Amino acid sequence: MYCPKCGTALVTRQDMRHGDTYLYCEPGEMGLSRSVQEALDHRYGANAPPSVVQQVRPAPSPTYPHEWGWYCPGCGVPLDGWLECPRCGKHLRGLAYQLVELHPHRPDPKAPVRLSAQVLGLGRVQERSDQVEVRVELHGEALRRGPARLRTHSGSVRPVWVIACEPDASQHPRHPRRARVVVEGVPRSAFQAGAYLEQETRSAAQDHERQASGEGRPDAE
Ligand SMILES: [Zn+2]
Ligand SMILES: [Zn+2]
Repeated sequence: MYCPKCGTALVTRQDMRHGDTYLYCEPGEMGLSRSVQEALDHRYGANAPPSVVQQVRPAPSPTYPHEWGWYCPGCGVPLDGWLECPRCGKHLRGLAYQLVELHPHRPDPKAPVRLSAQVLGLGRVQERSDQVEVRVELHGEALRRGPARLRTHSGSVRPVWVIACEPDASQHPRHPRRARVVVEGVPRSAFQAGAYLEQETRSAAQDHERQASGEGRPDAE
């Protein structure tokens, strides 16, 4: 079995508390919870079906943004934007919440952090005609001032520059991830709803400081 977050082969460790064993990613310092391990065994273990070809894929949604950078636990190859393996067709959907919330993984300090936001619609008209305000739903942290790219439905990718990103929690208390982003570099017509603004930054180490408190194996099961 391979680590879903970095693709390294997992090792078996002894759990002193429960007297059984669990799978552990050494570079990521991440132990799998009992429930995730059972789910992965069921999907990718020795007795799992050899492959699952999905006829219908769900539309890309905020839950499954592009480029998670995750790996197939069965094959060790990178997953696509639907968290699906190009080799065996199996997917990690349904386990994303547990893997994100309960399984902090020590990041590669050299690897960029990927930020992403989905365009909901256009915002106010800006004074400067080369700047566009868009309303977005953030998939994690706010976008930062600097280079980014706009990925549309048709798959086209255009470079843009983020001028500002202001979380919009006051106006949308039930949607704390909504934000307004001012962008430069493409015309207003390029921002169709559902397109993605994506950005790569280098704060992986700080991210880890914030997430990886507590012990290696999550308790919530
Ligand atoms: Zn790992
Ligand atoms: Zn696979």
